[in-house]
Amino acid sequence: MIFDKHDRGHNYLRISLTDLCNLRCTYCMPDEDYHFMPTAHLMQPAEIEAISKIFVSLGVNKIRLTGGEPMARRDFGDILQRLSALPVTLTLTTNATLLHRHIDALATAGVRSLNISLDTLHAATFLAITRRDQFDTTMHNIRLAISRGFRVKINMVVMKGVNEQEVIDFVEWTKDEPVDIRFIEFMPFDANHWAAAQVFTKQQILELIAGRHEFEALPQEAHATSEPYAVPGYKGSFAVISTMSAPFCGGCNRMRLTADGKMKNCLFSKDETDLLTALRTGQPLEQLIRQNILGKAEKLGGQFGDTPFEELHGEQLINRSMISIGG
Ligand code: SAM
Ligand code: SF4
Repeated sequence: MIFDKHDRGHNYLRISLTDLCNLRCTYCMPDEDYHFMPTAHLMQPAEIEAISKIFVSLGVNKIRLTGGEPMARRDFGDILQRLSALPVTLTLTTNATLLHRHIDALATAGVRSLNISLDTLHAATFLAITRRDQFDTTMHNIRLAISRGFRVKINMVVMKGVNEQEVIDFVEWTKDEPVDIRFIEFMPFDANHWAAAQVFTKQQILELIAGRHEFEALPQEAHATSEPYAVPGYKGSFAVISTMSAPFCGGCNRMRLTADGKMKNCLFSKDETDLLTALRTGQPLEQLIRQNILGKAEKLGGQFGDTPFEELHGEQLINRSMISIGG
């Protein structure tokens, strides 16, 4: 296992396969002058497999594929097949627009759980947030995943003045369908026009729901980023990922690999370790990985200090855009 200076063991690797995406979510992708990574800079399937094997030898037993949109890669099937042979729980975060093409391959690869992003239940709001007309396809594919027996978690980024009024509708969705809704506080990244005033906090979300429903806490999974709740009698559940108002870094077990093969020890870390170049030049990676984790800050990449999020300005942070890190 790979430990940091704060005695946190790291067994969970999130790999971004590409920064390409077929949606343009306002909170994720910069709208001005974004240059996608040249293909030669991306990790190739055999390289993703080789780097993953090294992480597995160091104790990783869970891998999540993300992006950009992971299924937007033409060789997604090849990558999936290679990683499915590793002794890990393999999962995916996706916008689901291409899920119908890969659902059989995902089942064959042993994927059981999918995190699917959906910020609204209205086609017009979907178009405004994602700048693409893909609401019907997304909903169709969410239903397809549920009907095929995948555990479906829905990621909803809640933004004041954009979609916070839909929180109750998402909770209502859990009445008849076994979906687990994860309300996510809006986070700052490069050029995503983040403003503290747009963060709809965990407390506000729970107060809003409490005004309509009684709900109860469910048992929490180890290293979870949120506490789950359910309305008694409802089939699904909900939770709030409160990165901004109540960070959950104490039990963090996550490491990240960007699509161009740079290791990050936190979503907000400034430092990166270039594992892909090391692999391509024949250097051993184990020590680089351990060094990277030893530099992990106690919380939020060390960038926020103890400043309450209400006093933060997005421009203060040094980071990539979310689409180029991998969520
Ligand atoms: N394309 C895939 C998708 O949308 O699920 C995977 C990549 S996306 C970057 C991963 C997750 O990050 C999504 O659930 C998305 O909602 C979330 N995300 C992106 N930008 C965010 C932000 N500024 N604040 C909070 N969550 C964000
Ligand atoms: Fe694409 Fe996902 Fe970012 Fe939306 S959140 S732009 S779907 S990578």
